[in-house]
Amino acid sequence: MRSIFLVLFLVSCIQQKDAAKVALVPSFSIDPSVSELQSPLSVPPMNAELSQWSEADREYFEKIIESPIQSLDSFDLQQYKEMSKSMMGKCQIPRAEPKYFRRPKGGGHRKIYDPSLILGISFDQERCKISSDDPQSEDCMIIRQWMDPAGKRNVLELSLTERTKPFRAVFERVAAQYNSAAKKMGITKGDQRFMHILPEVANTEVDCAKHIIEFVDGLVNDGTRSDGTTLSASDPDSGLILDADMFIDIRRVLRSSFTLEESLSALMSLFSHESGHAYGMRHNRSPLTDSIMNTYPSSDPRFFRSMLYDYDKAVLSFQYTDRYDPALLWQTDVDGNKYLWSLIASD
Ligand SMILES: [Zn+2]
Repeated sequence: MRSIFLVLFLVSCIQQKDAAKVALVPSFSIDPSVSELQSPLSVPPMNAELSQWSEADREYFEKIIESPIQSLDSFDLQQYKEMSKSMMGKCQIPRAEPKYFRRPKGGGHRKIYDPSLILGISFDQERCKISSDDPQSEDCMIIRQWMDPAGKRNVLELSLTERTKPFRAVFERVAAQYNSAAKKMGITKGDQRFMHILPEVANTEVDCAKHIIEFVDGLVNDGTRSDGTTLSASDPDSGLILDADMFIDIRRVLRSSFTLEESLSALMSLFSHESGHAYGMRHNRSPLTDSIMNTYPSSDPRFFRSMLYDYDKAVLSFQYTDRYDPALLWQTDVDGNKYLWSLIASD
């Protein structure tokens, strides 16, 4: 009999750079010893992300951009979390072997010397076990979406709601970016998609068969307001994510100081970040590692970027394929020095 005990985890995505511009938002800063470090990587080009919208897109979004804000409900995350807990025991769990990564006993992110040891992967700290091969290391179960071994079912299917439906084009653009990257990495093959936005619209109700994308107002987690949150539940026996629902505080994303293009790109970027959580990726706040799971100030072009970085592709490849490619895990900086993708701070 399989255990139906489930682990719920909640990932809040606080864009610390927003604090200065939005009233009523507590200030939030990262470890200064980290933020003062300079990335050895050159800042990537904008990939035309701000100029990708056609005149027809512009006209459409000019008309609708205020509409979701007018119909927002204040959102009780705690209540949703409680409902998730009571619902999760009824979820169908696909059969899958768990997958592990190895790290030094107790973590020790700063002392990593083997690139196979750590990447920005979600896992349950309390379920890491001392490795049978090496008592100085422990094996931790990777939290991830189910991959259909037959390669037929899409990996992550997302449902829009009445509120997010008008922004379908925004979400589909991000899905196309994930799909293209996954295909190139050999994660998906043929018609299988890594991310698929379903045509029908869902309710904002807890349903383990549906991952939803919803706009809400006043997203507060542990007393801190955030731009987006992904509430996720996984099976501790296999690490499979059974439900991952994304909530976006759209009022915070569509800031009055932004142009239309910036607003849409900021929404794409936040959605891309939340999707990373839905795949089982963790925050990465290392200044040495550009990642969609990192956060950047809105003065930085990377704030508007939704395309996956090499680091993100390395993480997804590690989670979703059986390959271990050291070349993917090392980055060459502008001076030609090689260093390991680093995970300095994570929560
Ligand atoms: Zn986040």
